[in-house]
Amino acid sequence: MAQSEKQWHPRFLKYMNTIANHPNYKGLFIQRKDDGTLAWIATAKSEGGKKRIEWCINKAQELKLITDHKPYPGMYADVMLEIHPTKWKVCQICGKEMSLYYHYPNANFVKSLNKTFSSDYTDCDHISDIWDDLVNQGVKQEAIARFLISKGELSLDYKSADKDTIIDALEFACRKGGKACLGPGAMSNFPDRFDGFHTYNRCCRATEDKGRSKSNLKSYTKDRRAYEYWSDGNIHAANQFMGSKFFDGISADHIGPISLGFIHDPRYLQPMSSNDNSSKRDRLQVTDIELILSTYKRTKVYPMSWQSKLIWEFICENYKQHPEKVATVYRDALKQNMANYMFALKMILESCPNNGEDFLVKSFLEPNYDYFKYSYSFNSNGEITNKTDRHNTDRNKYETDRYRRIAIEAVIDYSDKDNRNNKPNLTLEETETLHTLCNQIENNPDYPAHKKTFVGIIECIEKRLVSSIQ
Ligand SMILES: [Zn+2]
Repeated sequence: MAQSEKQWHPRFLKYMNTIANHPNYKGLFIQRKDDGTLAWIATAKSEGGKKRIEWCINKAQELKLITDHKPYPGMYADVMLEIHPTKWKVCQICGKEMSLYYHYPNANFVKSLNKTFSSDYTDCDHISDIWDDLVNQGVKQEAIARFLISKGELSLDYKSADKDTIIDALEFACRKGGKACLGPGAMSNFPDRFDGFHTYNRCCRATEDKGRSKSNLKSYTKDRRAYEYWSDGNIHAANQFMGSKFFDGISADHIGPISLGFIHDPRYLQPMSSNDNSSKRDRLQVTDIELILSTYKRTKVYPMSWQSKLIWEFICENYKQHPEKVATVYRDALKQNMANYMFALKMILESCPNNGEDFLVKSFLEPNYDYFKYSYSFNSNGEITNKTDRHNTDRNKYETDRYRRIAIEAVIDYSDKDNRNNKPNLTLEETETLHTLCNQIENNPDYPAHKKTFVGIIECIEKRLVSSIQ
């Protein structure tokens, strides 16, 4: 195997297999090498490359992009985007996914954007995330709409057009209309690459040999952070509540910080000025505990994610006798527990290249997908007063995919962010138990049984933490 191929990320290898076996690519030429791996690359001049080109021209006819046998400029890119089953491509270097649409700001555009809004985005931040983040920072939607419409010279009215309409129009103007504001997550590269896109995504373009990607959003939107911490709660209702009239021009604050394991849920959100918010972040005070407990009493919605439940219960029983420990010892225990939990997720993802991601998604993320099936109405306390079915299934799928993507990428990134998290402190015995579980996950996909084991391991770790602070 060539040197350059040795570092291919396991998620990219999995992506290659999924794509090569997908019916949309039936008949597209690909060879298996002697060792059984896929020969993803074929140059235009090679026999294989010529076969790919011929296939793509036929596919373009089938898709009615052309009526004769003559390709037009950009046709291969159109075909390969059209048939791509998810429109999100895994990066060969870092294993993260990026959109194949023109969804990322180009250099000049991001400069102008950052100047206009005093922000600090990079050319790897998705335009939809940027929009949400700006709103979260207190920027009016109309101002963002106006900026994008003017940059893309779009024939839309900034007062009436909504976010999706504007982003779709700007994307199209850049992909097909020659506007340079936005670029794709991976450049098209057919027939050289089987799926028609560069193996390196935009994230690793500049640093392709280092296996590191550029930093993501500097200031995190609340929903992104909740997904990164694998928070429980009605996460979709929380997102909706944050974007509602109750928070117009004011940022939303979690009463219990999600970085300490508290849930992402409308009932535990309160308005707060953006200054207070950035300083509060992951602190815990007696007044917070009391507000959380009274909210729980009123709503019966449990305030803590499952992975931190035992520590929370210990704190509830003891904070009155030891109020001085709340902001320090108790808060630190919650923080430490989250570091341990993320580390455990990372072990599963890395030690189980075949089933690990699937196990985590099915066990801990998919159960929350149902929240996205509804639209919610609220009173000013964030209590849900009404819930209706959402009929836009595309939108729904986009949001659950995004949830999954962000949660998994946070685990991939976990070790790179040691400055943002405590160091995990698992004992040797706990690490070994996790290793045994990883073997079981990889050898036998009985996920419900493994989930039980995993929950048991996390509870043991929590109990050890609790005994160390008693
Ligand atoms: Zn990358």
